[in-house]
This record gives sequence, structure tokens and C-alpha cells, in this order.
Amino acid sequence: MSNFNHESVLSVHHWTDTLFSFTTTRNPTFRFRNGEFTMIGLNVGEKRLLRAYSVASANYEDKLEFFSIKVPDGPLTSRLQHLKEGDEIIVSRKSTGTLVIDNLEDGRNLYLVGTGTGLAPFLSVIKDPETYERFEKVVLLHGCRRVAELAYGEMIAEKLPKDELLGDYVRSQLIYYPTVTRDPFRNRGRITDLITSGKLFADIGLPAFEPAMDRVMICGSPALVQDMRVLLTERGLVEGNHGEPAQFVVEKAFAER
Ligand SMILES: Cc1cc2nc3c(=O)[nH]c(=O)nc-3n(C[C@H](O)[C@H](O)[C@H](O)COP(=O)(O)OP(=O)(O)OC[C@H]3O[C@@H](n4cnc5c(N)ncnc54)[C@H](O)[C@@H]3O)c2cc1C
Repeated sequence: MSNFNHESVLSVHHWTDTLFSFTTTRNPTFRFRNGEFTMIGLNVGEKRLLRAYSVASANYEDKLEFFSIKVPDGPLTSRLQHLKEGDEIIVSRKSTGTLVIDNLEDGRNLYLVGTGTGLAPFLSVIKDPETYERFEKVVLLHGCRRVAELAYGEMIAEKLPKDELLGDYVRSQLIYYPTVTRDPFRNRGRITDLITSGKLFADIGLPAFEPAMDRVMICGSPALVQDMRVLLTERGLVEGNHGEPAQFVVEKAFAER
């Protein structure tokens, strides 16, 4: 049996010149935990061109959703950005990743820190009822350069609170905090600066990070991941991994080449 499923593209949405999302059919045998990534791609000639992608849909949904960058000369995304309804993509049958709530010890507040397409794994984590059963407050931080890049903002702020399954949880427990660095907006600045200055905590009405209370998941550029790792370690939080739950977990949203 092949290690890959072939899925059909159901819809494509372009957010900006550099960001788009698409949904596909889902082979019912494909299982994943919310927050995980898988390998997806295209057949190019005789070759399979594959890249790691976080699954942005929740594991109980019958479609798969992905949130993608468009790298102009990127081997995969220079092609993937032209996907249209009915096209076929390849999706691995396996998923993996550290950004799952099982890799965190119990705590009071869960912070989800994503920049750019690093939002993707958290889109499935915030749709998981178990997230709200384990944590009192779930704070989703999304950092981008431009307001137009704050993809999914309307879904998070408008649709999820009205969702039949999740609405009650979302209305009372989810705090969505988008921030941008290059446009005028209600929240401005880099996530790490907002944490260091204390502005984030003042804005959301929660105390600054404490190892006993707070759990954090991070997904972004290699630089953001490194800066957050230092910032949390300095505050006494310990990094967790598969089989070793602790107080924060990280995943790079992409690798530098
Ligand atoms: C664990 C993991 C999960 C990932 N999940 C996603 C995801 O959900 N969505 C997604 O779009 N990408 C994701 N990526 C990146 C993805 O695997 C590819 O790198 C990306 O699709 C570009 O592929 P490419 O072949 O066009 O260019 P590549 O040759 O893979 O990348 C070229 C360059 O583009 C830049 N780049 C690549 N991906 C990104 C990105 N997402 N944001 C900003 N700059 C980037 C980097 O500088 C990289 O060196 C993930 C990577 C990892 C390691």
C-alpha cells in the first residue's frame, strides 16, 4: 500500500499575493492529532515534490485544510499557488509534530504563539474541545507584518464564537490577539516585544508568564522560535517534547535553506 493518499482540491482562497489556503477531500483512514503536520505535495514529472504542512482543519472535520505561503521561486509553492478546484494533491498517510496538548503539563492558561503561516497548527488546536477542557484561558497570538496577512481573523473572531460545538467554549475562554508590525492596527509590535514590555498581559488582563500557571506553544520563523525559547527559559519555563510533557513546545513553521 502506498504511503500517500491522493486528495481532490475542493476550494482555494487567496488572502494576499503571498498567502493562500485550500481545502481538500480527506481519506477517512488519515488520522492526526490537532496541531500536527504531514507531508503534502505534487507529482512533478516522475518525481514527488513534498513539503511539511501543518493541518489547519480539526481532526474531526471531513475535509483537510492547509494555509500556505507562496514563495515565488519555491519548488513546491510556485506550483501549489496555482491549484484550483478539482486538482489533485498528494497527502502522506502519516502525521507528526510537537504542538499537541498532550506534550504539555496541566496548567491554567494556554498561549498559542504563531507568526505568518505558523498560525496553521493552532487553527486545529482552537477547534479542539479538549483544549478548552484542559485550560481555563486559551490565548491565540498571531503576528504578521501587514493587516491583510492576518488570515482567518474573521473566522476566529466572528464565526467560531457562534459555532454550535465550540461557541460556548470560545466565547468564555478564547482570547484572540492579532498584532502587526508595519500597518496601523489596534495591536502593534512583535510578539516577543509585547511579552517583554508587559503590554500583552496588560491588554488581555492576565498575569505575566509563570511556570506554575502558563503553557505555551510556538510556531513561526526559526528566529521567533529561538527568541521565544530564550524568553521562556529565562522565565523558568521548561521545554517539552514527545513523551516528555513540560511547560512549552516549539515547531519551526519553515526551515531556512
Ligand atoms: C514542521 C513544518 C511545518 C510546516 N508547515 C507549513 C504550513 O502549514 N504552511 C506553509 O506554507 N509552509 C509550511 N512549512 C514550510 C513548507 O514545508 C515549505 O517550505 C513551503 O511550502 C515552501 O515550499 P517551497 O518548495 O515552495 O520552497 P522551499 O524551498 O521549501 O522554501 C524556500 C524558502 O522560503 C521560505 N519559506 C518557506 N516556507 C515558508 C513559510 N511558511 N513562511 C515564510 N517563509 C517560508 C524559507 O526562507 C525557505 O528557505 C512547514 C515546514 C515545516 C518544517
